[in-house]
Amino acid sequence: MKAAIQTGVRQFEVREVPDPILPDDGVILRVTACGVCGSDLRRWREGLPPGVDGIIPGHEIAGEVIAVGGGVSHLAVGDRLALAPDIHCGRCWYCQRGLFNLCDHTRLLGITPGYPGGFAEKLAVTGEVLANGIAHPIPAGLPDEIAALAEPCSSVLASHLKTNTSLNDVVVVIGAGPIGALLVMIAKVRGARALIVVRSERRRELIARFEPDAIIDSSREDMVARVRELTHGLGADIAICANPDASTQAAAVQMVRKGGKVVLFGGLPKANPTTTLDGNRIHYGEIEVLGAFSYHPTAHAMALDLFARGAIPIDRLITHRFSLDEIDAAFATANSGEGLKVIVTP
Ligand SMILES: [Zn+2]
Ligand SMILES: [Zn+2]
Repeated sequence: MKAAIQTGVRQFEVREVPDPILPDDGVILRVTACGVCGSDLRRWREGLPPGVDGIIPGHEIAGEVIAVGGGVSHLAVGDRLALAPDIHCGRCWYCQRGLFNLCDHTRLLGITPGYPGGFAEKLAVTGEVLANGIAHPIPAGLPDEIAALAEPCSSVLASHLKTNTSLNDVVVVIGAGPIGALLVMIAKVRGARALIVVRSERRRELIARFEPDAIIDSSREDMVARVRELTHGLGADIAICANPDASTQAAAVQMVRKGGKVVLFGGLPKANPTTTLDGNRIHYGEIEVLGAFSYHPTAHAMALDLFARGAIPIDRLITHRFSLDEIDAAFATANSGEGLKVIVTP
């Protein structure tokens, strides 16, 4: 089969590799769509971990079952599946409490060596993935490329669940990439007012299609002052930082009201993960600062259900599509920020 193998910094080789072997307790998937994630881009820019010379990335996966192992009775050839990367161990302190996203031994499709991802024609979905990973049937009528977006949507659903985003809450989303767009869509469907902070005119154009209640351009206006103005001086109920910029985390603490919530959704650069927040504001204002990372497997099923019901305008998220042979262009496009979600169709 053909696969796109990341071999170094900003480097892919598209080449023939042996077909995956059908596991007795798993299935073979013909990959039909795989999204380019911000974390894929980070590893593309930064290179592979030491000691790894190649990996097939891609973890926002949809495909069709083309072979079924003898020990699998609940899946059949022709079934369509959406996959997310996390495989939990089921045994650690966190897994024992159902906190699978915090598992001490998480392995990730398309990231952990030995766990190839979706930028390939085929993928073995092993018994380990079927038992402790995230694989859900794609609802009838839902296109595969949309089903692939259940993965990024899952972490967004988990974040809004954590803040209990509710009717009439004012939510500020800082960061206008695909995740920012999803954060706006889910805030709105939960009945909140969604304000979003963008940093360029191009982003403003792209994000406008999701009809946020206000778009704040931080390259031209002070985002904290603008949020206060839009909330009659009160401040926002919730601010979510969906970007790798520590200064926006400090701004988020300034723009929420007393008792408000700040969510650190995006990771910071590995080399410089320290952030400085106004501790007195957090203390006297009883502001909650929350981390949000990954999600419980149920969020993935919930995302597919939301898409199938047409509850959010998810189809507007995809701006570019590329074949496997065009993987370099797919990553360059996603990295340029000129579009939103880039999908590879092997
Ligand atoms: Zn991802
Ligand atoms: Zn575990």
